[in-house]
Amino acid sequence: MNKKLRHIYLLGFFFCLGFVATISEGVTSNKDSNTAVRVLLDKAIPKGKVNSLLYSTFYRSQPARGWIRAERNLDILLGPSQQNPIIVNSTPLQDSFVFVRGGRNPSDKISFHGRLFRGALKWMRNRDRSFSVVNYLSLEDYLLGTLGSEMSPSWELEALKAQAVASRTYALYRIQHPKQAEFDLEKTTQDQVYGGVESEHPRVAEAVKQTAGEVLLFKDLPIKAFFHSRCGGSTETPAFVWNHQQGYPQKKVSCPYCLQKPFSWQTFVRIDELLKWTGLDFGRDFKIEPGDRGPSGRLASLKLISGEQRATIGTDTLRSHLGYTRLKSANFDWQHDGELVMFQGVGNGHGVGMCQWGARHLAQKGKTYREILAHYYPGSTLKVSH
Ligand SMILES: [Zn+2]
Repeated sequence: MNKKLRHIYLLGFFFCLGFVATISEGVTSNKDSNTAVRVLLDKAIPKGKVNSLLYSTFYRSQPARGWIRAERNLDILLGPSQQNPIIVNSTPLQDSFVFVRGGRNPSDKISFHGRLFRGALKWMRNRDRSFSVVNYLSLEDYLLGTLGSEMSPSWELEALKAQAVASRTYALYRIQHPKQAEFDLEKTTQDQVYGGVESEHPRVAEAVKQTAGEVLLFKDLPIKAFFHSRCGGSTETPAFVWNHQQGYPQKKVSCPYCLQKPFSWQTFVRIDELLKWTGLDFGRDFKIEPGDRGPSGRLASLKLISGEQRATIGTDTLRSHLGYTRLKSANFDWQHDGELVMFQGVGNGHGVGMCQWGARHLAQKGKTYREILAHYYPGSTLKVSH
């Protein structure tokens, strides 16, 4: 790397850290607490309990008020008035939010809804007399709790390392483009599945450690590093799947594994299920016609025709309505018989970015995580920050 380029990378990286530091609010206990991520755990609960795994629990609202040491178990309730919006263990607070954490001992964790979490929890009172709960923790700790839910910890280490970089990059992109003002990510497949401490695994921890701080950049910024289960033979562009561009011009690539094993599926859907979002009536001459089909085989949309009426529905919208696990990809054909439509397709997932089964195959063939990432995210640069 030449000197000028290195300077630009460092500037970009420290810009990222500076941005993140403004939202961490000094509540994460990890030494690299500047790189904090905020994960929405719940958004409509009337009250709750929080326990420290070890000894005392600490809480605070405004930083100037400092942390208050409390018993190991905390009860958090809605307060009776605007002046006291939250009550913690019978103590009324004057703020509409409160942070809760365990001790500074790294082995301490916080328990909420029967699950353990690293970092701190921010409880925020909503306007509808409920709480939203957001987990603040370091980016590397977050990866420990998400990677094993996105890829089996039993898979090859190089595949897990590729997943660690992809997940870290996606999270960093979200930190710079938060889902909402109060949080960066959701804990579901809407972003990345995050289960806290119980989802951690030693092999995942090794993959995170061996790639610590590494992210994929395009023009010095983290890319929106999409990934999916099986591409079916070729990946796809976000412009085709979601009709939107991102800063990084994600290209489609062929996938050696899925070309051999495309993962075939089929599902049956009633016509009234297909029509219920369109406002069309089901007529005897009902038929389905394809919209644009890309070179990867995926359909951008379907045309539903019933007599004189017709409607066009995007395949991603259709998958969202029917269920992503039911209509597993947008690469399908169909047969229409009476009131049933049988869809037959290949692949599993939206098809953008890294194909996880393809990544595993490349790892089994001896490819490194860097080679795997270079294959599925062509044009991006892997930044090594250490
Ligand atoms: Zn594939």
